[in-house]
Amino acid sequence: LDHWLRAPGLVSPEGGGAEHPLSEYAAPPVTGVPVPGPARFRQVPRFDTIDLSSNTNPFLGATGEYPHLDTTELADTYLATIATLPGHEGVAALSADHLLFSSGSVDGVMLLLAALASPGERVCVTPPTFPLYGHFAHLLRLPVVEVPLHGDDLSRLDTERILAADPRVTILCDPNNPVGTRLDPEQVHDLVVRGRGLVVIDEAYVEFSEQPSYARLIAQHDNLIVLRTLSKAWGLAGARCGIALAQPGIIEALRRVQVPFGFTDASQHAVRDRLTDVRRVVAGIQRIRAERDRMAAALTEHPAVARVFPSETNFLFVRLHKHERVMDQLRGAGIVVADTGRVIPDTCRITIGDRRANAALLEALSAAL
Ligand code: PMP
Repeated sequence: LDHWLRAPGLVSPEGGGAEHPLSEYAAPPVTGVPVPGPARFRQVPRFDTIDLSSNTNPFLGATGEYPHLDTTELADTYLATIATLPGHEGVAALSADHLLFSSGSVDGVMLLLAALASPGERVCVTPPTFPLYGHFAHLLRLPVVEVPLHGDDLSRLDTERILAADPRVTILCDPNNPVGTRLDPEQVHDLVVRGRGLVVIDEAYVEFSEQPSYARLIAQHDNLIVLRTLSKAWGLAGARCGIALAQPGIIEALRRVQVPFGFTDASQHAVRDRLTDVRRVVAGIQRIRAERDRMAAALTEHPAVARVFPSETNFLFVRLHKHERVMDQLRGAGIVVADTGRVIPDTCRITIGDRRANAALLEALSAAL
């Protein structure tokens, strides 16, 4: 895996792996007290020792302490939980060292670009797609190659053009935002197997899909990174918890560029709680899917709508007959949808809401006619 780890900051001037700059402050393991996991920063256990190492305030309670850095247990719980979901066969073979928690999955994108791409190396994105991939690549001064999706449902990759561009990193969004469709799985597989670079698959919406997650293939491919989030199906957007899944060498590289302590105690608690409530989450996914299919049917029939793209997400991508007028009408009714008209003319992206919100949307669309 050393092959992937040549970005500046990951290699010391002497050529060996660089230590994390904070590791000189890392507390040594305390004799007699088990320090679990392979955490880079061996944090002093909270109760069995007197911690005079981190310049914190002892007088204002637990919020004065830094968050736990060893998230091994939470990682194991996450993996065990998603392994029970449909389309996640094979995930049970992964362990905590295949996983990194980040501040939302967008942070994961930034980490992997910073850790795994060197100056001048190309990043390939496939528009229309989530715009932050290209944005982060630009911020990091990495050249961006855009290879648009095609096909009637915008689910086809131009694999030959992507391979010809020989990118260091290709970032795919599957299911894709803003279109809502899944990419052709054979083409995705082709890129992973034939490309020389890393393939990142952002699966922010995969829990809403009928097709399996690519997480099951992590153990077989050292160039595959799957990004997940708890912001969508898991209902924890405010907790800022993203998850990168990849082989351990990659995960370690991402960990080294990460700002420490980003995964706060409050977030860790929220995540732990939600993972114990998987039945509620699954019920929510089923409700959203049912509501999505109902809304897709209603919108397909709607005279204001020219086309509803098939969706495997919690949103619908819609082409409108009178785009400007409909957008004005929705704004006037206090309904906010994503206006994607600048990306693909006459389109908008509608999140599936609760029954009341969805009914209000349909009503406002009718009023626009
Ligand atoms: N990836 C995609 C494809 C998204 O649509 C979004 C949210 N809009 C994100 C990532 C961001 O997720 P997070 O909240 O985990 O940063």
